[in-house]
Amino acid sequence: MRVDDEYKGVLNTMTIMDLPTTASVKSSGEQALDAARAQLAGAARFLGLDDGLHRMLATPRRSLTVAVPVRREDGRMEVVQGYRVQHNVSRGPAKGGIRFHPATDLAEVTALAMWMTWKCALVGIPYGGAKGGVAVDPGSLTTRELERVTRRYVNEILPLIGPEKDIPAPDVGTDEQTMAWIMDTYSVNAGYSVPGVVTGKPMTLGGSLGRAGATSRGVQLATQMALGSDPAGKTVAVQGFGKVGALAAQYLADAGMTVVAVSDASGGVHRAAGLDVTALRAWARENGSVPGFPGGDPLTNDELLALDVDVLIPAALEGVLHAGNTPGVKARLIVEGANGPTTPEADLILADKGTTVVPDILANAGGVIVSYLEWVQNMQAYSWSAAEVEVRLADLMETAYGAVRDLSAERDISLRQAAHAIGVGRVAEAHGARGLYP
Ligand code: NAD
Repeated sequence: MRVDDEYKGVLNTMTIMDLPTTASVKSSGEQALDAARAQLAGAARFLGLDDGLHRMLATPRRSLTVAVPVRREDGRMEVVQGYRVQHNVSRGPAKGGIRFHPATDLAEVTALAMWMTWKCALVGIPYGGAKGGVAVDPGSLTTRELERVTRRYVNEILPLIGPEKDIPAPDVGTDEQTMAWIMDTYSVNAGYSVPGVVTGKPMTLGGSLGRAGATSRGVQLATQMALGSDPAGKTVAVQGFGKVGALAAQYLADAGMTVVAVSDASGGVHRAAGLDVTALRAWARENGSVPGFPGGDPLTNDELLALDVDVLIPAALEGVLHAGNTPGVKARLIVEGANGPTTPEADLILADKGTTVVPDILANAGGVIVSYLEWVQNMQAYSWSAAEVEVRLADLMETAYGAVRDLSAERDISLRQAAHAIGVGRVAEAHGARGLYP
């Protein structure tokens, strides 16, 4: 049986195809977790894992839900939910970002933690997978409120994190400043400075050269490896203009590609002859979002996803390419800057259309790779040059990409199936070597 058929079987038994349209519709986080588990099930079947190990890998090692009380500027107290999930720590300390988004929930954080486990194994860095989240809209808080939420959340998850245990990093809605507050809160509790507790920190606190653009640089490298030829003149559309999307657009434009459209949560802009990405980034910084940029015409997120481009880069949130809109996708190549942007149903539609998809756990791994390099520098109390970081990033990305491409070709499976087979296989191997305690 081909893995594709098995994958379809898993989907059918999980009834993702027949999502109810009533109030019992699953949250986007629950759908992401279904997708992550379907991908794992496909890999487990491919690898011939026994049921017990498969079940263990489908279940997070530790999940913590915390209440985060926050004092608003007007004196009111509100309570938001926070989460930290360590999916697996068999290959090393848990590693994964912290997301501030109103729709985040335990299921979403669990899915993201699971993807982190496979991603770290795939690119060969000695970490397990984790993720954190706080169900809050950072845009609705003042800077002081945001600092209070961050510090209180960190205080609640303090027993789980640490440079040898679990190392957070930025994700949607968090940034270098958030990491600085986390590092400070942890350090004050420890009684001494612990830079290695987070990555994606400001340079002044032990951040690494190259970390801010690392995920985007990895997306650029993955795009170029997938195109396999000179990227100059190829067209690209980028959904999401945050930390990952904006710099991915910049690096691809710098490499000679024509960035014809970008969007963020408020809408997008389009220019067939190519957008001036540097000017657009300056506009978005000054105005807070992309729409209104004078160097292009307005377009919606749905229109962006359906553009006739060589490359589409989803770099926002999960589940944006689904059964409803994927039949209209015209891009020949999709490079997943975001985690989980393609639902399993959309994956099958894209496979039928012959669209190549470079999966998230490979395409956006540049971020965790340079996070690892930052952590190594912190543990050694030594800093590397930007060039050293770039070379190591490119080396790890190229090695992982080559392994995925070769397995995909050898076994006639998709790049996603190959990436999961390698990532899950390495974690399973680590479990086998360690054995079960007691
Ligand atoms: P961010 O918060 O910096 O940016 C998110 C962007 O997505 C913003 O421009 C936002 O407006 C946009 N967006 C939100 N909802 C949208 C919607 N419905 N339609 C279109 N755009 C929308 O977050 P980020 O760090 O750039 O992360 C983006 C994705 O990349 C996430 O899936 C994240 O998990 C993944 N990722 C991030 C990193 C990292 O280092 N930051 C590493 C690996 C993967």
